[in-house]
Amino acid sequence: MLCQHLNGLTLENLIPKANYPTFRCEECLLINGRWVHLRICQTCGKMLCCDSSEHQHARYHYEETGHAVVSSAELGEDWLWCYPDEQQKVY
Ligand SMILES: [Zn+2]
Ligand SMILES: [Zn+2]
Ligand SMILES: [Zn+2]
Repeated sequence: MLCQHLNGLTLENLIPKANYPTFRCEECLLINGRWVHLRICQTCGKMLCCDSSEHQHARYHYEETGHAVVSSAELGEDWLWCYPDEQQKVY
């Protein structure tokens, strides 16, 4: 069973990678940090770094704001991840 956060999100209504002219972690830019992979917050559209990155800004953003779902910003990766429910959905 998909969680309530992922259930309604589809290719038609999610915030797509194509919206972003440049791929970067907004928070890492401010502190000169380095990221490994990028995630897009599907609540507010922030692009932030993944759990493999030193600063884990996407997870921190979830903990701070409660914004539950991110998508992968990586080319060829078409999935969403829900932090509170630890569920993935391929779209
Ligand atoms: Zn969820
Ligand atoms: Zn970052
Ligand atoms: Zn957000």
